[in-house]
Amino acid sequence: MGAGIAGAALAAALAGQGLSVALLERRTGPLDTARGDHIQPALLPVLKRWGVLDSMLAEGAEWRQGTRWFDREGQHIVTVPAIQTTDLPNGFLFLNHERIGNVLLQRAVQGGSHYFPELERWHLERRDNCWRLLMAKAGSRQILDCTLLIGADGTASRVRTELGLGLERHSYKHPIAILYGRQRHGTGPRTLDVHLTRDRILSLIPRTGGLTKIGFPVDHSELAQWRDQPAATLARQLEAWCPGLEFEQLEFGSIYPPLSQRTSAYNGPGQALLIGDASHAMHPARSMGMNTCFRIADQLAGQLAGVDSGFSDRDIAPLIADFETETQRTLTPLLAENHAAGLQMDTLSGNGFPALVDQLRAAAGNEQVSQAMATKASGWPL
Ligand SMILES: Cc1cc2nc3c(=O)[nH]c(=O)nc-3n(C[C@H](O)[C@H](O)[C@H](O)COP(=O)(O)OP(=O)(O)OC[C@H]3O[C@@H](n4cnc5c(N)ncnc54)[C@H](O)[C@@H]3O)c2cc1C
Repeated sequence: MGAGIAGAALAAALAGQGLSVALLERRTGPLDTARGDHIQPALLPVLKRWGVLDSMLAEGAEWRQGTRWFDREGQHIVTVPAIQTTDLPNGFLFLNHERIGNVLLQRAVQGGSHYFPELERWHLERRDNCWRLLMAKAGSRQILDCTLLIGADGTASRVRTELGLGLERHSYKHPIAILYGRQRHGTGPRTLDVHLTRDRILSLIPRTGGLTKIGFPVDHSELAQWRDQPAATLARQLEAWCPGLEFEQLEFGSIYPPLSQRTSAYNGPGQALLIGDASHAMHPARSMGMNTCFRIADQLAGQLAGVDSGFSDRDIAPLIADFETETQRTLTPLLAENHAAGLQMDTLSGNGFPALVDQLRAAAGNEQVSQAMATKASGWPL
C-alpha cells in the first residue's frame, strides 16, 4: 500500500523474483519534487543490481562530490568527500525525487508488479488466512487477496492505523522551508554546501540542470514572509546570512513539518509490516530518509529471495521475524544519529554553532576523523 519511494523500491527490488506483487496508490499526480533526491554512494551498487541505475542516468541524474561546510563568515571549514568502493564514479547521484520514483515504478511494472494508481477508497479485512482489500476507483470496485500486507503509505500511514500499531513520534519545533534557485557563480563540480550561519543551518542542495534546492528551519511567524516576499527580498535575506552567496534566480517552494518517528512491529494474525516513512520517518538534516528506504527494501527483498509464489503465512513467518530483527539493528543507530542532527538543526539561535564548527575544524586537521565522517555520510557500512 503506497507507491512512493519505499513501495516502488521494494517492488523494483522484487522484480523478476516470481512473486505476485500488487502496488496500490491513491496519488493522481507525481511525487513531491522537494523530497529526497541524493543517493548515497553505498546504495549505488544496490540500485545497479535492481536494474535502475542506468535508467536514472538516462533520466538526467548527475554526480556530486561530497559536502562542504562553511562558517558564519562564509569561510570554508572542511569538505567531507564521497567514498565509493566499487567501479562506479566517486560521488553521490542526484535526480529529482519524482523522477527517481518513476524509474523505480517502471522497473517494478516491467518486472511483473501490478500497479493500481488513483485509488479513491480502500477497505482492509482479515479473511480466510489472508488480507482482503476492497478497492474503489472511478466508479468500479475490485477485490484483492494477499498473504503479506506491506504498508508503505508515508508518515500518516493508514495501514498503521488499521493494524492498530504503536507509534513513537518527535515533532521538531521548526518547520523547514524549501526554496529553489540558481546561484550566480554556480560552475565547477557540484557539492552539497552547509552554511552554519549566525542563527540557523542552511543547506544548498544541487538539483539537475545547475539549479539548487535551499533548505533551512523557520519560525511559524515567518511563514508568510517566506511564502509571499518577492524573489529579490528572499535572495537578500539568504545573502545576508551567508556572505558570498548570490542568486540570479530564486523562488519559494514549500514548507515541511519535520518528524522523527518509529512504528512498532505487527504481532497480530497473518503477516504485515511497514516500510519507509510509515515505519521510520526522520528529520531531513542528514538526507537519509529515501536512502534508508532503499536499504530496507533491499533487506526485505533479500529475505523473500527464496520464497515461491503462493507462499503461506507459516512459510514466511520466520523470514518476517528475521527481517524485523535485522531492520531494528539497521534503524536504531540511523534514527539516533538523524534525531541528533535534527535537534542540532532545529534552532533559530545557534550563535554560529561554535561546538559544531570546532568539531568540523578538528576533522579538517585529522585525516582519520574526516575519513570516518566521509565513510558514514556515503552510507557505509551497508
Ligand atoms: C524536505 C525534505 C527533504 C528530504 N530530503 C531527503 C534527502 O535529500 N535524502 C533522503 O534520503 N531523504 C530525504 N527526505 C526523506 C525522503 O523523501 C522520505 O524518507 C521518502 O521519500 C519516504 O518515502 P515513502 O515512500 O516511505 O513515503 P512517501 O513518499 O510519503 O510515499 C507514500 C506513498 O503512499 C501513498 N499513500 C499515502 N496514503 C495512502 C493511502 N491511504 N492509500 C493509498 N496510498 C497512500 C502516497 O500517495 C505516497 O505515494 C526528505 C524529506 C523532506 C520532507
